[in-house]
Parts: sequence; C-alpha cells; structure tokens
Amino acid sequence: MTDRYAIVGNPVAQAKSPQIHAEFARQLGHDLQYLRLEAPVTPGGFAATVDAFRAQGGRGVNVTAPFKLDAVAYATEASDAARLAGAANALTFDGARVRADNFDGVGLVNDLLRNQRFELAGRRLLILGAGGAARGALLPLLQQRPAEIVIANRTAARALALAHECGAGAVRGCGLDELGGSAFDLVFNATSASLSDELPAVPAAVFAGARLAYEMAYGRGLTPFLRLARDAGVPRLADGLGMLLEQAAEVFNWWRGVRPDTAALRRQWAVPLV
Ligand code: NDP
Repeated sequence: MTDRYAIVGNPVAQAKSPQIHAEFARQLGHDLQYLRLEAPVTPGGFAATVDAFRAQGGRGVNVTAPFKLDAVAYATEASDAARLAGAANALTFDGARVRADNFDGVGLVNDLLRNQRFELAGRRLLILGAGGAARGALLPLLQQRPAEIVIANRTAARALALAHECGAGAVRGCGLDELGGSAFDLVFNATSASLSDELPAVPAAVFAGARLAYEMAYGRGLTPFLRLARDAGVPRLADGLGMLLEQAAEVFNWWRGVRPDTAALRRQWAVPLV
C-alpha cells in the first residue's frame, strides 16, 4: 500500500517539501504519496487537520508556519531539539503515539560539515536572530563543540532568554547593537529580515576575519546580509538551500529508515550568490 505523508501549513502552496520528498522517493524506489494540507488558522485547526489525515492512514507530516508550536503541543513525545526550539517541523504517527522532532538544526550542521566542509569544533559562531530557526539550530551547533556561540537579536531580551534556557557556558545572548568589537569565524543570519530584503542592523565589523557567512533564507540570491558580508571581505557565502534539503533528508530517514542523497537537488535548485 502507498504510504501517505503531508506538509501542514497555511499557506502551503509555496512549500518545497512535496517536490523534495517525491524526488527522494524516486531516488530510493519508495512508494509514497506526499500531500499539501492547508489547515485553518483557528483554535484547534491544526489538530483537526492532522486528526483527519491520521484517520485516513497518514504516517507522518512536516509542519511549517504558523503551526510549528501547535505540532509540539499535539505530540505525545517531543525530542530535546523540539523542546528547546519550542517548535517541531516533523511528526510521526504510530497508533496513539505521536512523536515530534525538529530537524532544522541537524540539517544546518549536516550542510556545514558535509557540503560546505566547514568544521565547527573550536570556532566562534555568531547567530543573528532568536526566533524559531535560531532556536532550532542551537543544540545541534552546540553538540559540535564550538569555542563560543553568541546569539544577537534585535530584541535583546529574546536572545538573553534563549541563551539562559540553553544553559551552556559557551552560549551568550545580546542585542544587535552590542556586537561592536567582537570577531567570529562564522556568522549566520537567522533573522527573517532577508524575506523582505532588509538588512539586520549589524556592524560590518562582525565579519572581520570571518571565513563563512551563512544566510538561512534560500532561493533569494545575494541578500543584503550576504552582500554586506561579501563587501566586508568574507571569502565564502552560503544560503539555506543546503539546510532545507539536509533537514528533509533527515526527516525522510526518520520516517523511512534510509537517508536520501541531496546532491542532485542542491545542484538543480542552487541560486548563484552573486
Ligand atoms: P521567526 O519569525 O521565528 O524569527 C524572526 C527573527 O528575525 C527574530 O529574531 C526577529 O527579531 C528577527 N528579525 C525580523 N526582522 C528583522 C529585521 N528587520 N532586523 C533584525 N532582525 C529581524 O522566523 P524563523 O526563525 O522561522 O526564520 C528566520 C529565517 O530562517 C527566515 O529567513 C527563514 O526563511 C529561515 N529558515 C530557513 C530554514 C531552512 O531550512 N533553510 C528553516 C527555517 C527558517 P525580533 O525578535 O526582534 O522580532
């Protein structure tokens, strides 16, 4: 019987997961159907949509905005990554049991280690932003034993709270306006500023000596953040396509027990960063 999966969000028309999972299934010869489910943004709307999908035999779902928090609440068990992030991007169903996990951070780390060949151990990392993407990235990055992780956010209190919740000595939070004078090996843009072609208010000095600037948004080419990094002399730039595809590969593996290769889609969908 064909196994059924779906992405649940609102809107979902723009989601790339159906194409990604269809390509993974083709690559590995798996028989699966992957749907788009637009859940109503009403109290209980997410739960009702997922309940109906499970009743029709659905095996698991990916979850996108604005339901990543609802997904944790819906689950009977949540991974450490999902709990620290306060958000899940995937659920798997096994009878009454519903497990939630967040693979964004693992996807990011896999992209850095496997595709970018960028070692994180001993490095000084700066994460701009303290929303869902930064939260999801924190534990997997920390597991790579960097020398330090600074989380800098427009609203400083959110960065301080995240650093405090994570409880690791190597992690500290601050406001974007407190960054002057610090130097980093790798700077991530985990703000959503690029989605509206804006630049987070970050001093160009944070790029002094940086070896890689990583934009978590994808498919937008040279964003204002990447342009600032390039002009400040950062030798390597990356966008979030690799993170997206590696996260999808981890989810596929979680559901199906085999890890697809992302190289073909990375080549096919890459947008030049010039
Ligand atoms: P959230 O809405 O959860 O968080 C947004 C963050 O951006 C907050 O820290 C917010 O700061 C900050 N921000 C927004 N606008 C600005 C601005 N103009 N200047 C400075 N800071 C700003 O978003 P997500 O964490 O879900 O997404 C962040 C980015 O990561 C997006 O570009 C998204 O596309 C990308 N992403 C990529 C993934 C991938 O697989 N490649 C997966 C998930 C996300 P404040 O707290 O002050 O409001």
